[in-house]
Amino acid sequence: KKKRDNLKIVVVGHVDHGKSTVIGKLLYDTNSLPEGAVEKVRRIAKETGKPFEYAYLLDAFEEEQKQGITIDSTQIQFFTDQRDYVIIDAPGHKEFLKNMISGAANASAALLIIDAKQGVQEQSKRHAYMLSLLGIKNVYVVINKMDLVDYDAATYHRVASEMKEFITPLGVTPLRYIPVSGLAGENIATASDKMPWYTDQPLLVAMDELPGEQQEIDKPLRFPIQDVYKFDNRRIIAGRIEAGKLAVGDEIVIWPSGKKTHISTLAYWAPRDRKNKGYAGQSVGITVRDEFFNKRGELITLASEPAPHISNRLLVSLFWMGKTPLKVGKKYRLKLATQEVEVEVESINKVIDASSLDSSDDTLKEIKLNDVGEVILRTKEEIAFDTFRENQGTGRFVIVDGYDVTGGGIVNAAEKSVAETI
Ligand code: GDP
Repeated sequence: KKKRDNLKIVVVGHVDHGKSTVIGKLLYDTNSLPEGAVEKVRRIAKETGKPFEYAYLLDAFEEEQKQGITIDSTQIQFFTDQRDYVIIDAPGHKEFLKNMISGAANASAALLIIDAKQGVQEQSKRHAYMLSLLGIKNVYVVINKMDLVDYDAATYHRVASEMKEFITPLGVTPLRYIPVSGLAGENIATASDKMPWYTDQPLLVAMDELPGEQQEIDKPLRFPIQDVYKFDNRRIIAGRIEAGKLAVGDEIVIWPSGKKTHISTLAYWAPRDRKNKGYAGQSVGITVRDEFFNKRGELITLASEPAPHISNRLLVSLFWMGKTPLKVGKKYRLKLATQEVEVEVESINKVIDASSLDSSDDTLKEIKLNDVGEVILRTKEEIAFDTFRENQGTGRFVIVDGYDVTGGGIVNAAEKSVAETI
């Protein structure tokens, strides 16, 4: 049987523009809801005298997740005849950022939801900007609540062109603009007779036409070490293969040291099994011919494939969500793949207000809450990384201040290492 295609989609947009409602309706229309969920929401609606809300259906999912039935609390699955979808719901700006930069989300497509009546809002713009920053090119702009504007074509066109004007210069060309009413269920799974002027596909059908996931497996091997276990007399190096593939006998390089050795054995954790090959997405354990006292944070690549960048200076695009601004000269913790090191903000080259795209050159000493900047980070020791364009899993990072994730972003380039440490 052919393996089913799998697509991760992030749903973003201004609060109350209808993300949960649209997702709820997609789940409903694809029969993907937990058993009894619809009945339960109907019953509550009746008891409280409130209208039936598709958005509440998501709560049923959360309950299920709390019981540990589904694996990841931020992810909701549904299925069509075409493929399996994983929807990443981003209830708020902060959750969205956290999801996106932590890699939990790793989405390759996005629905950007806009309320037809309210039009493009500040947060719609911020989210559009983040999509561009994260290199998510497969974007559908969903213009929701068309029922509130009497399914008016002119309103749809006005909102669509407003978003288009903002998003196109960012390098994102939305593949479609789709008018819907999540609440009334118009143009979600089937074409709507309320909008005969719209002749393209309804949302769900259009989603099935989104390009599939990029194949991480075809990229050079990136195997960040998560842990090293001592087992009898062997040391087992464990981790998740972020990209590429490895096999017993392969010559590998361990970064940042650059030491070389060969893979002796390979095992999967689940099912416990011995194999000769491992692929992107799998968690494996390997043993190597020469043990160099490897540790968490190191990156394994193949000697025959392109090496990562090794430097202590990274040029990054960074968004900040800390209550106190990011400041030049201040030290934080940087987490990149499994590496965690001390980092200092060397310089801020540019600060951008994500909703207006205004860039200010006057105060390059700090980045405030919700702003984005181009920054040079200097780590205490040299680390191994890629640019985000080269490899997503080893090209994104988060910044931790104390116990909080206060920022994150993507690596644009490796800068020349400098000798003096921070
Ligand atoms: P979210 O914050 O983006 O997830 O928005 P919700 O899905 O929670 O919706 C916010 C409010 O807008 C709720 O009261 C919904 O019932 C309402 N809403 C969502 N979609 C529509 C729609 O298509 N038409 C109308 N009239 N109301 C909608």
